[in-house]
Amino acid sequence: MLEDIIALDKKYYMNTFGDRQRVCFERGEGIKLYDTEGKTYYDFLGGIAVNALGHGHKDFIAALKAQLDKVIHTSSLYYIENQARLAERLVKSTCAERVFFANSGAEANEGAFKLAKIYYYKKGIDKTDIITLDHSFHGRTLATVAATGQPKYQKPYKPLTPGFTQVEPNNLDAVKAAVTDKTAAVMIELIQGESGVHPMDKEYVQALRELCDEKDILLIFDEVQTGMGRTGYLFAHELYGVEPDIFTSAKALGGGIPIGAVCAGKKVQDAFEPGDHGTTFGGNPFATAAGLAVFDIFEKEKLVDNAREVGAYLKDKLTALMEGSDGKITDVRGAGLLIGIQLKDEIAKDVFVKLFSKGFLTSLCGGNTIRIAPPLILKKNEADMFVNALADVIA
Ligand SMILES: *Cc1c(COP(=O)(O)O)cnc(C)c1O
Repeated sequence: MLEDIIALDKKYYMNTFGDRQRVCFERGEGIKLYDTEGKTYYDFLGGIAVNALGHGHKDFIAALKAQLDKVIHTSSLYYIENQARLAERLVKSTCAERVFFANSGAEANEGAFKLAKIYYYKKGIDKTDIITLDHSFHGRTLATVAATGQPKYQKPYKPLTPGFTQVEPNNLDAVKAAVTDKTAAVMIELIQGESGVHPMDKEYVQALRELCDEKDILLIFDEVQTGMGRTGYLFAHELYGVEPDIFTSAKALGGGIPIGAVCAGKKVQDAFEPGDHGTTFGGNPFATAAGLAVFDIFEKEKLVDNAREVGAYLKDKLTALMEGSDGKITDVRGAGLLIGIQLKDEIAKDVFVKLFSKGFLTSLCGGNTIRIAPPLILKKNEADMFVNALADVIA
């Protein structure tokens, strides 16, 4: 059966993902996924930081089914109760004043760029450029590829959308040197996810806020991966104690149903006016019902606290494992349930493959780092299972 599925994929699907891991999942429950061949896996990647509630969460499924029975899509021509209520939830629990919903992370970031540009345009100030960081990841659309500081994603698509420059992370002088009177915004991930879980320093982020205030530049946080409880805070900027002018969310926001959000603080909240931006699907009744259910379940099950507690527990255990690993594990980084385990270059691929054959789903980032982003429902005994499996593999 798996062979048939692979053959179909190879014939009909564009070859954007090459040889994927040889597995196809049929069903899931909690952190477990069951494949077409009857094998059980433990999902320590959570669909790349998406499945915050794990798989088959009963209350989540019930909320989705209830919405399916009512209405799925109506369009932006009409008021949408769930959309307004989800926007309210985001505003009431963050520094945002207004929200716009898109369908994905890249699309939310596009919205953030447009919002930054139009804010200055409407004031008659000629600021159009955006500074981002090396090794960042902001999405796969043309503008987000221009923002993404990884040449391999950019090279085939030149000329890129103009106005984006990248500088070294955690280096304030590099930002200062790149700022011009055309700089509209600086956009960063507080913890760079795709390149191997690299957290920014607190002092750097705080100094960046001061620099942006001083020079009238907007500060944007791409919280597509770090948001919605991932780091043990609803959004990672709480962990840093720094409020951005704009932040974006996606991945876990819909618990697996596609949705993205552009969240605007006081300064820019009114920059979009009728006709300036739009979407067909974004924030439709179904997607926003999913977002509301995610918020409800987060509160009921205290999942953000759980991510912080179980994340700290897991990171301690992994750090202890590193200390006794004879230099095989070279670093353990991250916050909450976004953790990078850096390995000696020569063994990284092998460790990743062996974890997979033991039934543990992770991702290999930045060449030598195992990234885990498990569902926020993770329990300590499940965290132990992962640590034990990794200990076995390393030994
Ligand atoms: C995943 C990710 C994106 C892109 O999100 P898509 O939904 O794939 O478009 C953007 N920024 C960050 C930080 C991400 O992790």
